[in-house]
Amino acid sequence: MPADPGAAPRDTAPVAPVATLIDLRRTEAVVRVTCKLCGHVTLHDREALIQYRQASGSGLEWPRVQAELICWGKRCRSNHVAVDAVPFSDDPITLRRRRAQTILINLALQVLSDAAGRSTRGKVDTPDVRLALRVLHPFLGDAAMLQAYWHDATLEQRMGATSCHHAYRAIAGRVLARGHTVYADLRAAFASTSEIPR
Ligand SMILES: [Zn+2]
Repeated sequence: MPADPGAAPRDTAPVAPVATLIDLRRTEAVVRVTCKLCGHVTLHDREALIQYRQASGSGLEWPRVQAELICWGKRCRSNHVAVDAVPFSDDPITLRRRRAQTILINLALQVLSDAAGRSTRGKVDTPDVRLALRVLHPFLGDAAMLQAYWHDATLEQRMGATSCHHAYRAIAGRVLARGHTVYADLRAAFASTSEIPR
């Protein structure tokens, strides 16, 4: 079999146990709740769960998440459920590619989010911002959004509300809407639900 020159060496180390919801990022997992009473299965967006639990102070510890999630079946709400993590893929190569993509996207979003924070005080048209916008281009499918961010980044004089926050929110929302992983703290808006529609 020809070697894939782009492939990293296979991980031989044993997989560390999952301690918190954050650890599920390693496998890009969603959280599955299977009801033992009615059989209803709910898939939860991991990052939306992180958002909710951080906002409510209910903690990200995996055993606690497993103990507290309930059935979302109609008129059920049973706590007799099995809660497990479903990896993005069982194929290690597919998983590694997705993971690399997620890390790239979220690093770029972090740069734009930080720059948006600084943009109320002056120009942020710096090389790191340009690089982040270019990195996001293939995942966004909308050059206008990136151009809007860059336009706002180059503005010298700020008129109160004029900053990169609006453009950042549009970009983060679109990346998420296109099915990519956006970490809880980089989401521009609170998720309306953690349930993944099927
Ligand atoms: Zn149920």
